[in-house]
Amino acid sequence: MRLATLRAEVARYAKKMSASGLVRATQGNLSARDPESGLICVTPSGADYDLLSAEDIVVVDAEGAVVEGQWKPSLETPLHTLLLGRRADIHCVMHTHSLYASAFAVLYQPVPMILAESAACLGGPVPTMPYQESGTLEFAERAAEALGQGHALLWGNHGAMVVGPSLALTYSIAHALEDTARIYAIAAQLGMPTELPPDEVARLHAWWKASYGQRVN
Ligand SMILES: [Zn+2]
Repeated sequence: MRLATLRAEVARYAKKMSASGLVRATQGNLSARDPESGLICVTPSGADYDLLSAEDIVVVDAEGAVVEGQWKPSLETPLHTLLLGRRADIHCVMHTHSLYASAFAVLYQPVPMILAESAACLGGPVPTMPYQESGTLEFAERAAEALGQGHALLWGNHGAMVVGPSLALTYSIAHALEDTARIYAIAAQLGMPTELPPDEVARLHAWWKASYGQRVN
């Protein structure tokens, strides 16, 4: 089996996404690129996360053509391949439906930077792109445009997407986004939350980027 280790890791993190509430049932998707071959390991379409194993993860090339795998790759594969093709600094793309981030996506309200560690990896307020049917190349183009050089993006009336240099860091960014949205929602019921100053967010993000360097695992 090609890329057995990376496929096992994608299956493991897909299960973690489900177990930690980032997605439910068969929602969401996850990919990771092998930096050496450039091949991409992506979750299969309509996967039951509880049953996923390394063999279920589909290997596609940079254009999304299946190289090895027994299932169809995620319907969002055009998005994964396009983002990975355009960003040399990322190797993973994760799409979630986490509840509080999705609430912000329904409100079209940016997720503000209120927590130091979350701000370090998110790098700035997380914007929402306009609603559009996902799964198409056109959607992938719009998402890439809206994401820019950022690490997180909300999809209007849909959910969230995060990108990162490794599976572990991407998973951590997804939780940083969800925790920020959740804590903001709680804090806003108690009073007026205080946002971190933009220059402090920039400083924290620069530190975060320097701390992982070129590490990809
Ligand atoms: Zn979705």
